[in-house]
Amino acid sequence: MTGAVAIGIDIGGTRLRTAVVAEDGTVLEQRRRPTPAGEADTLLAALEEEVTAVGGDLPVGIGIAGLVTPDGIVRYGPNIGVRDLSVAAGLEERVGRPVTVINDASAAALGEQRVGAGRGCDDLVLFTIGTGVGGGVVLDGRLLVGAGGFAGELGHLIVEEGGRPCPCGNHGCVEAYAAGSAIGRIATDHLVASDRPSVLRKLPTIDGPAVTRAAEEGDEIAREVLAEVGTWLGVGIASCVNALDPALVLIGGGAARAIAPYALPASREAAAARLLGRRFRTPPPIELAVLGDDAGTVGAALHATARHPATGGGQDGSR
Ligand SMILES: [Zn+2]
Repeated sequence: MTGAVAIGIDIGGTRLRTAVVAEDGTVLEQRRRPTPAGEADTLLAALEEEVTAVGGDLPVGIGIAGLVTPDGIVRYGPNIGVRDLSVAAGLEERVGRPVTVINDASAAALGEQRVGAGRGCDDLVLFTIGTGVGGGVVLDGRLLVGAGGFAGELGHLIVEEGGRPCPCGNHGCVEAYAAGSAIGRIATDHLVASDRPSVLRKLPTIDGPAVTRAAEEGDEIAREVLAEVGTWLGVGIASCVNALDPALVLIGGGAARAIAPYALPASREAAAARLLGRRFRTPPPIELAVLGDDAGTVGAALHATARHPATGGGQDGSR
């Protein structure tokens, strides 16, 4: 395919997306299927089918929701049901070409930095807001991977010791306040704490999308809930900025756009108020990511080209 440099595959809890990507991040061809459940072999067989269906001999970059070592072993993928699965080596053996594997939010951060909202910015962090809260860090133009490959889990920055329980087993993580399911629980607490009217009171169950819909309709409690979510996110952002000093903070993931009008002003305020030396510096902008559903596939593909250039170009994109 003209201009194609790599195949990017984004393995989420429910959907597996495959894209053929050009050097400038353009998606030239796309495929989607449900993420297979069950055995490791089922996942590797599905990945082989996707790569074979695209054809050619392009390198393959995979982003997966989980903890991934630098040599492409998925230590733990809670939503996909895999543990200690050597995805890179396993797929390389099946398709006979280089395969790189990174965390999905790290892939999205790299995608945004190369061809999205962070183009031209060497130092950025991305928080992804969806079923959970993920994160990715690019510093000096390179994806931060860490000693074990587990860097950038910004959703598990603890913003309140002993706070709300997080699916990771800790309490008070950003994810426990800003993930879709967490938004529903915070809304329920707001409804119990007040007797003001709200359209949310008529609903049998309250989840993140219900809260954002109510906020869009002008519901005051829903807007307060999303402002609280934004504040917690801002507290996490402040720690992240104090540690890493990025030039840009991006918010992406499935729920980002819907919560942004009510949450991001609160995030900016909460982050700015907690920065070290806040009277003597300008806080980095906190903005929406732009690649949407393509961020993971595009980022994973560009990561693969940096590691295994198909066209002789590219530079090492990870360390
Ligand atoms: Zn956590």
